[in-house]
Amino acid sequence: MESYFNLPNKVVFCSKCTLSNQRPHSISEFKHTKNREGAVYLKINNNGVCDACKMSEIKKSNIDWDKREKELAELCDRYRSKNGDYDCLVPGSGGKDSRFQSHILKNKYGMNPLTVTWPPLMYTDYGYKNFRSWVDNGFDNISYYSNGEVSRLLAKLSTKNLLHPFQTFILGQYNFAPKIAHKYNIKLIFYGETHSDYGGPLVETSKSLRDKSFHTYSNLNDIYIAGVKFSELKENYKITEKDLMNFLPMEESLFEKTNIKVMALGYYLRWEPQEIYYYAVEKTNFKPRPFRTQGTYGKYASIDDKIDDLHYYTTFIKYGIGRATYDSAHEIRNNHISLEEGKALVKKYDGEFPDRYFDEIMEFLDMNKEDFEKICNEFRSPHLWKKKSNSWFLRHTVNKDGTDD
Ligand SMILES: [Zn+2]
Repeated sequence: MESYFNLPNKVVFCSKCTLSNQRPHSISEFKHTKNREGAVYLKINNNGVCDACKMSEIKKSNIDWDKREKELAELCDRYRSKNGDYDCLVPGSGGKDSRFQSHILKNKYGMNPLTVTWPPLMYTDYGYKNFRSWVDNGFDNISYYSNGEVSRLLAKLSTKNLLHPFQTFILGQYNFAPKIAHKYNIKLIFYGETHSDYGGPLVETSKSLRDKSFHTYSNLNDIYIAGVKFSELKENYKITEKDLMNFLPMEESLFEKTNIKVMALGYYLRWEPQEIYYYAVEKTNFKPRPFRTQGTYGKYASIDDKIDDLHYYTTFIKYGIGRATYDSAHEIRNNHISLEEGKALVKKYDGEFPDRYFDEIMEFLDMNKEDFEKICNEFRSPHLWKKKSNSWFLRHTVNKDGTDD
C-alpha cells in the first residue's frame, strides 16, 4: 500500500515498547519539506527490538555513569569563569528539564549559567508561571519575542504545508541559543536529552557533542521554513530576510570560528524524565498542571505551549503514534510501567482530540475546524489509515486492533 513521507511501508511495532517503525527521527527543521525527503525512521532490528530500547539497555549496563560524571566535572572545571561571568548557557522554557539543567550546573558544578528562552507562540498560564518561578529562583534569563506577525504567518504556513503547527517554535528553540552564546562570548551550551534517548541514531551514545547539522546551515538556497523555500518566503510572502533569520541557525563557517560546544547533559547524567521531574519539584518549586494533558496520561511534561497538545495530535495523524505512545514507550524503558500497562494507556488516550485550546489556536492561525480537518486528511498516509463510513481508523495498532491487524 502507498505510504507518504518515505515512511516504511510495513508497520512494525517494537516487541519491548509501544513505538513503531513509523516514529520519525528528528530532522533539521529548516530542511523539512512536505514529502520529508531524506527522512529516516526508527529502526527495529531482526529480533524485533527498536533502537530506543537497545539504547536504554546499553545505558543500563554498558555506560559507566561515574566516569561520565567525572567527565562533566572536568569539562566544567575547564570552562568555569573565575569572576562570575556567564560560562555556560542553558536554553529552555522553565519546564522540568531546563530547571534541572540550570540548577544542577549552578549548585553542584559551580557554574554560572545564563538561561535563554524562545517563548512559546501561545503560553499556557501554567507554563508562564513556571517560567517566572524559574527565573525568580535565581537565574538571569534572556527571552526573545520575534516579530509576532511573521511568527503567526509561518505557523499558519507550516500547518498548511507540513501539518506541523509547532515548527516555528522548534526552529527558534534550536537556533536561538547559539546566537546568544556568540553574542555573550559563552563557549558552552547545555541541552538536556540526547536524541538517542528518543530513538535517535545510536551513534550519539558515544559522544556528547550535538551534530552540527542541527544548528548550522551552509547555503540559504537549501533552506525551507514552513515547507516553503527561503527565497519564496521573501518574494511571495514579503517576509524580510532579517525576520526570517530569527528562525535560522548560525552560518556554518561562522559557527566553527566561534568554537562553541553544543552539549547534551543527558550524555553525562542519567536522564529519566520522572527523576528529573522529582528533582524539579523538590529543588526548584516546579508545578505540574493540575489536569491531565489531552492525548496522554501525564501532567508535567511539555505543558508551556498551548500548541504542544495539537502538535502530538498531528504526529498521530502523520505517523499513527500520538503522545501516549511517546510517553509510555519512555516509561516502559525506565521500568516505571509494564508493556501491558503502556498498551492500555495508548488504547485509552492516543489520538484523543485536544479540544482544550483548539478554538484559540484556530483563531490565532486564522483557520477553522473544517480547514484543519481537511489538512489532516491530506496527511493520512494510505498505509496507516482506512476510511469506514466517514470515519478514519488506524490499520495497525500496538494493541493489534487496527482494521488490518
Ligand atoms: Zn522499543
